[in-house]
Amino acid sequence: MTQYVYGFAEGRREMADLLGGKGANLAEMTRLGLPVPPGFTVTTKACRVFLETGTEPDELGFEVARALAALERAAGRTLGDSADPLLVSVRSGSRYSMPGMMETVLDIGLSDASVQGLAKISGQERFAWDSYRRLVQMFGHTVLGVDTELFERALAERRTLRGATDDRDLDAQDLALLTEEFKEIIHRTTGEEFPQDPVEQLHRALRAVFSSWNGERAHVYRRREHISDDLGTAVNIQAMVFGNLSPDSGTGVAFTRDPTTGARGVYGDYLPYAQGEDVVAGVRNAVPLQELERLDPRSYLALTEHLRTLEAHYQDLCDVEFTIERGRLWILQTRVGKRTAEAAFRIAYDLLEEGVIGRRAALSRVDGDQLARLMFPRFATRPSDVPAPRAPAAAPGPPGGGAVSDSAEAVRGAAAGERTVLVRRETTPDDLPGMIAAEAVLTSRGGKTSHAAVVARGMGKVCVCGAEPLTVDPTARQFTTPEGVVVREGDVISVDGTSGTVHLGALSLTDSAVRQSLESGEQSDLLSVAVDRALSHADAVRRLEVRANADTPEDAACARRFGAQGIGLCRTEHMFLGERKHLVEAMILAVDGTAREQALAALLPLQRADFTGILAAMDGLPVTIRLLDPPLHEFLPDRTQLAVRIAASADPDPRDVHLLAAVERLHERNPMLGLRGVRLGLSVPGLVAMQVRAIAEAVADRIRDGGDPRAEIMIPLVGTVEELRLVRAEAESVLSEVFARTGTEVTCPIGTMIELPRAALTAGRIARAADFFSFGTNDLTQTTWGLSRDDAEASFFPAYLDKGIFTISPFESLDEEGVGRLITLAVEEGRAANSRLTLGVCGEHGGDPDSIHFFHRAGLDYVSCSPFRIPAARLEAGRAALGEPRSR
Ligand code: PEP
Ligand code: MG
Repeated sequence: MTQYVYGFAEGRREMADLLGGKGANLAEMTRLGLPVPPGFTVTTKACRVFLETGTEPDELGFEVARALAALERAAGRTLGDSADPLLVSVRSGSRYSMPGMMETVLDIGLSDASVQGLAKISGQERFAWDSYRRLVQMFGHTVLGVDTELFERALAERRTLRGATDDRDLDAQDLALLTEEFKEIIHRTTGEEFPQDPVEQLHRALRAVFSSWNGERAHVYRRREHISDDLGTAVNIQAMVFGNLSPDSGTGVAFTRDPTTGARGVYGDYLPYAQGEDVVAGVRNAVPLQELERLDPRSYLALTEHLRTLEAHYQDLCDVEFTIERGRLWILQTRVGKRTAEAAFRIAYDLLEEGVIGRRAALSRVDGDQLARLMFPRFATRPSDVPAPRAPAAAPGPPGGGAVSDSAEAVRGAAAGERTVLVRRETTPDDLPGMIAAEAVLTSRGGKTSHAAVVARGMGKVCVCGAEPLTVDPTARQFTTPEGVVVREGDVISVDGTSGTVHLGALSLTDSAVRQSLESGEQSDLLSVAVDRALSHADAVRRLEVRANADTPEDAACARRFGAQGIGLCRTEHMFLGERKHLVEAMILAVDGTAREQALAALLPLQRADFTGILAAMDGLPVTIRLLDPPLHEFLPDRTQLAVRIAASADPDPRDVHLLAAVERLHERNPMLGLRGVRLGLSVPGLVAMQVRAIAEAVADRIRDGGDPRAEIMIPLVGTVEELRLVRAEAESVLSEVFARTGTEVTCPIGTMIELPRAALTAGRIARAADFFSFGTNDLTQTTWGLSRDDAEASFFPAYLDKGIFTISPFESLDEEGVGRLITLAVEEGRAANSRLTLGVCGEHGGDPDSIHFFHRAGLDYVSCSPFRIPAARLEAGRAALGEPRSR
């Protein structure tokens, strides 16, 4: 038979799925002999039954009655007894901490009769009435759904009547009158009387707490934190103890170490003569915990001893909530404490050094997201002005500068040594120079995986994407906040990518010491030492190699400093932009073979120099160079602009007319599915040969100069092995010709990207013609889902996330169920057909912590990601090798 209720003495820490985090820890502390007020936990299973069927399981009433009887025996009092009432709290507590997202009802057991008993037995009439009015208020709101504002208004009126500024100035009689008023409010608004039966109070509170699992804010929180909606909450019913009973009572929060910095030593706050709720509401200012040593040395000593016991037992930072009732210390709650990213690294590696935990446990306590956060600069001061609206934090960090409306202005500003923030409605690849030049990027549209966000994250730039309440007007070169503040070009703003807020004015910044130390290899502070140790450990245990997506020698060098073991994706399209655009235009416009060959010949030395630089920066390590991928029209001018220019001119430039014809010829309705990738190589004669020649000659040059170049050639968007065979044959003939001519004796592996479902499904055949596969999960996600990322993110993605169809964008974290299945199939069939096949991934997912765990399990050889994401990827690859879970 299912057991739905567990006394604290029956549970254990490992039972958090059933008892919730709070319940499991209360049980654990009870078993450790800590002074925990007695109580019991109603399981998450009971909650799930309630939520599914609308009623509690049949046995629950009986089990609660039995547990309540045991609680009454332990406390030596009866719930709601009119002479000496036992009062209980009814608190939510799910598997994962959801602070403040669900409901709580305190002081259950008070009634018109028992309030008198409490007054007498405590000798504190005011305290008794204050507790009762709090119960009526909380019960009225949480259980009966009365607008809390009605109670607050009555309270305020009473204060005015008495000339009081604070609730503490109200006496017992005021509070008794208020309680009556509150009961009337309940009656008036719901037609119900406040229930006088304590057991009815208890059951109704229990149901209200169950229901609060499905409250709006709980939903929103779970979505943000990727917590499943199916878990349900446990409910803890516990004898009340009171910190507001007397001057030698009080309440507080304590941590076994500093949760902000991770520094050793007890840390916390104490509020004398107060209840826990007062701390949360910030009614009065708390004093530092150390003050308790002076106020109540005995309790302080006992508390610090308990903290030591808990940390030794949990082998981690613990936080506790405690109450002192008339000089007697009670521990009300403990959990392994939340901490900042900085504290996570410090604490894990301090505990390792102290011999409390081993290396495996230390590595399990830090993660790639935390490391990524530590690599961004931070605001040195907190903002004092009113922040502009929040938006999803797309790429962490906090810089600022003068707002600029377009890429050109950002570039101009950077050249003049100015710090700028590029403010756009959304960004396109054309904005790339501006994004590089700017300190930060702010867009009013898009989300965490929109273009601006992806690019910014990859570059280590700060980005706030989708700040929808801002109205961006690029023509007027300004944007407007919802409050009507107009921010003009040049006005300084600060962008906090971590919180997703934008602030008017400049906030000062400090550089990330962690980033500096990762780049220099020298650790100047304790945090950097901890990060370095975590990374060394991850490197020692990981199977996945980590390569970089890098297209320039500078990026390659930076990636190498961050620990890249090669380049997994060198996109060559960036080498066709800027000043070289006219050569590409000439290639596209060529009327005959000779003209095209001339244009390609002009591009050849430029490409060769690009590759030589990158191979030098990655000397001795693999460099996977991808042949040109995007559709040609991306290199041509905008169709409308061109048409307008021609129409506006009496004597249009014949070149413009030519260009327009080409633009129209190359125009595609769905360029993502059009003439791109390998299709381009097979349609534009000489293009593959030119790129391969540039690679081969760069390899030969590097060898001549004493280098150790390890170039690999990658062919994009292959759908059938025939495409690969044809391009491979062409590439091999150019390689042999160049290597024979230059006397170069190296092999240059030729492989393909797997980024179409058909390629994955026919991987066994493709593998016979490939030396390696690299999963292009950006395109593979688009083509598996049948959607275009840029369009989808701007249109229906927010609704899909809102409706829970996606818990996270499939472009941010790999869709294991669909795209992952194709990858698994391609890995199996590819390896079966070609045992020497190397397997990697170079889509954005290569730097995403969750996805890295999948790639490890799928048996890939490496992940490749933007340089800035490399340290986090190394860390997660190590954690994956230890089998650390990532998902909830
Ligand atoms: C991919 O599709 O995953 C990929 C890396 O290629 P790109 O993003 O350049 O299309
Ligand atoms: Mg692709």
